[in-house]
Amino acid sequence: MSALLGIDYGGTHTKLLLVDGTDGDGPILARESVRTAGVDELGQEVRRFVADRPVAQFAMTVAGTFDAGTGVVRRSVNMPWLDGTAPAHRVSEAIDVPGSAVQDGIATAVGEATLGAGRGAEDVFVIALGTGIAGAHIVGGEVRAGAHGGAGEVGHIAIAGEHRCSCGQTGCLETWIGGGQLGRRWAEQRGSGAAAVSTAHEVVLAAEAGDEPAQVVLRNAGQALAKALLQVSAMLDPAVVVVGGGVARSPQWTVHPAFDTARRDATFHRLPEMRLAELGVWAGAHGAVLAAAHELA
Ligand SMILES: [Zn+2]
Repeated sequence: MSALLGIDYGGTHTKLLLVDGTDGDGPILARESVRTAGVDELGQEVRRFVADRPVAQFAMTVAGTFDAGTGVVRRSVNMPWLDGTAPAHRVSEAIDVPGSAVQDGIATAVGEATLGAGRGAEDVFVIALGTGIAGAHIVGGEVRAGAHGGAGEVGHIAIAGEHRCSCGQTGCLETWIGGGQLGRRWAEQRGSGAAAVSTAHEVVLAAEAGDEPAQVVLRNAGQALAKALLQVSAMLDPAVVVVGGGVARSPQWTVHPAFDTARRDATFHRLPEMRLAELGVWAGAHGAVLAAAHELA
C-alpha cells in the first residue's frame, strides 16, 4: 500500500505529514513538526521522515507566488531564499518521489474545507485571521480563484472607519481584526498612540484581565467580522463558513461574538453554518496531501 506526503514549509516550522493510501483522506501514518531550514536540509529531513515507506506522490506548500508550470518561486516575502528556485523540484530529486508545489493559503483553506470544519459540505468559505486576513471559496474541494486569481480577498472588503490599511484603502476588515492591527487599535483606545505596538495575544490577555479599552477593541473587531460574514453570505451564499488563524485562537473574544452578531443582524441573508477551524497548524499539511492526491488522480 502506497502513501502520500504533505510538506507545509512555513517561515519558522515545517510540518511533515504521511497519509495512508492515495485518496488524501486516509489514516495518518506519521507526522512531525521540525524547525524550518534551507531546501537542501529539508530534502534530508524528509528522507529521514519517510524512511523506507513507499510514497507515491508529495506536495509542498510555498509561501508566495510561483509559476504553476515550472514551480519556480517568483517572490516569497517571508522566505526570500526561495526566490528564483523550484523547491518542490529539489525535494523531489532528494527523495526520488514525484511532487509539486501548492500555494500555502490555498493548501490551508482546502485542508480545512475538505477534512476539517468544512468536511461534508460542498460549498465552503474559509477565513484565516492572521497578521493579515486570507479568504478562499472552495466548491467541491477546489478553490474558486476568479478570472485573475484574485478572489477571496475578504480582509480588504470595506467595513467602516478611516484607518489606513496595508492595501492602500481605508476601513478594511483587516484594520479592525488583523493581527497586526489589534495592538494599534488598543493603543488608540487608551490614548497612547506612541506606545510600542502590542500583539493580538496581548490585547486578549488584557481584555481577560478586565482592561476596558482592550475589551472595546475586541468588541469592535467582532462586529467588523460579523459585517464581513454577512457580506460573504450575501455575495456567495456558502453552506459553511470556517474561521481560523491565530486571532481565532481566543474565539470567545472575537469569533463567537461575531457569529452571534451576524445571526442577530441578518435580514434577507441565508446564513451559512458558521464554524471554528479544527485542524489548527496542520491544515496546510493536510491540504498539501490533498494536492498530492489531486496530482495522482
Ligand atoms: Zn485593505
